[in-house]
Amino acid sequence: MSGEHLDLSSDPNPPRPPPARGFLGVHFACCGLYSRVYLNREGTEYVGRCPKCMAQAKFVIGEGGHGGRFFSVS
Ligand SMILES: [Zn+2]
Repeated sequence: MSGEHLDLSSDPNPPRPPPARGFLGVHFACCGLYSRVYLNREGTEYVGRCPKCMAQAKFVIGEGGHGGRFFSVS
């Protein structure tokens, strides 16, 4: 744990990345579960799996994006 500290008040520019936006909330209709799917490494699509049956969900990012950040897969 050496080299780490949480005294943010003394550092006006803490070396932290901005909050991650790289996920979508997805309702997996197959099992009635809600989970997150995360942006892939290339930043081109969101890929995730149903936590119960492991069905894959993939959302390609199109021009202008979608109107919402919640999706349902069946
Ligand atoms: Zn499922």
